[in-house]
Amino acid sequence: MDFELNDEQRMFRSTLREFVAKDIVPVAAEWERTGRHPTEIIDRFRELGLFGITIPEEYGGLDLDRVSFALVFEEIARGWMGVAGVLGSHSLAAWMIARYGTAEQRSRHLPDLASGARRTGIALTEPGAGTDLQGIETRAVRDGGHYVVTGTKTWITNARHADPLPVLVKTELTTPAHKGMSVLLVDPSSRGFTVSRDLPKLGYKGTETCEVVLDEVRVPTGDLLGEVTGRGMQQVLSALELGRINIAARAVGVSQCAYDAALNYSRERQAFGKPIADFQAIQLKLADMATDIQAARLLTYWAATRSAAGAVNTEAAMAKYFASEVALRATMEAMRIHGGYGYSQEFVVERLYRDAPLMAIGEGTNDVQRMVIARSLISGAATLDW
Ligand SMILES: Cc1cc2nc3c(=O)[nH]c(=O)nc-3n(C[C@H](O)[C@H](O)[C@H](O)COP(=O)(O)OP(=O)(O)OC[C@H]3O[C@@H](n4cnc5c(N)ncnc54)[C@H](O)[C@@H]3O)c2cc1C
Repeated sequence: MDFELNDEQRMFRSTLREFVAKDIVPVAAEWERTGRHPTEIIDRFRELGLFGITIPEEYGGLDLDRVSFALVFEEIARGWMGVAGVLGSHSLAAWMIARYGTAEQRSRHLPDLASGARRTGIALTEPGAGTDLQGIETRAVRDGGHYVVTGTKTWITNARHADPLPVLVKTELTTPAHKGMSVLLVDPSSRGFTVSRDLPKLGYKGTETCEVVLDEVRVPTGDLLGEVTGRGMQQVLSALELGRINIAARAVGVSQCAYDAALNYSRERQAFGKPIADFQAIQLKLADMATDIQAARLLTYWAATRSAAGAVNTEAAMAKYFASEVALRATMEAMRIHGGYGYSQEFVVERLYRDAPLMAIGEGTNDVQRMVIARSLISGAATLDW
């Protein structure tokens, strides 16, 4: 059993770490506070090839192994979780096009998505349906060589920059509903497609999250993902496995940043004539944080490693669930260790504390992850062994 990164992964991580330290950490606090668009960081993502991490090399992508994929999100989230969101849904949507798209769709989209000349995202959630995706109301009705799409999507990350935007729709009304669900690769310049507003958020700044209205948008049938109807739920669910590994890795990055800040602060802050790190109450918090974070990291790398061999529904759910709960605890504890300063916008833990909850909600809430884990164990589809 090998718990070490290989040489290539270690080198890749150092490149990422250097990039984050130089180009993200110095600007994160100011840009997140002022809402400035992180243009230069996105340019650096392009230069580093990070828009192509899930895209095959033949289309110009890096086609990273899954542990390196997780390292991208962990390292960027150590600097600023919000900008990791620029790559999050882009990577999983690009993977979905590479995995399920027709040859024509792959060659039309993947080279631009790999270089970052165009970006993408994924539109599943609606005002009336998030967890219950089979309850979506966006309809796509066939009209000759087009689908006419009407509906509203909400909480769509990267919506202002997605081209195409993969949208989950109902092409037929069936029972069960998933049999009539499909993914359309919607061109944002189509008439009737509007990004209607940016949603105000607690954290996760640096990436826009929007409501999208589709009002009788005509989508050519050639933009139906894989040119197959009725497979949309399976297509997005398999992409969400990758999404859960990305969220788990981001949670590890946020937790590590919280721990680093808390450790440094506890060594420097004096109370009663000594560093607060000398107090056992602080030591216990640091020990719990460190142990939690290392367990979350191992679970994340484990799920990532296994995902190379196929479906990892249970493993990805475990990693996402555990790591995001760790992030909630670690950011809270880091704030407590900082005392009043932890509540100040001048210290990083305040932002980490606001960024952490998204990871317990996005790519399926943690209660849903627990249900996925329990169901697969009870049905025997997964067992708890090594
Ligand atoms: C910042 C941000 C970015 C996002 N980005 C995207 C994006 O890019 N694309 C996209 O499509 N979506 C995106 N989302 C949406 C996100 O995936 C959903 O918010 C999430 O899946 C939960 O759906 P919901 O908000 O509709 O909550 P609901 O489904 O209404 O859930 C509400 C509560 O009920 C619980 N619940 C629901 N069903 C069950 C059940 N069967 N059993 C037990 N409990 C249940 C949930 O766990 C939760 O606690 C984003 C959300 C946020 C906050």
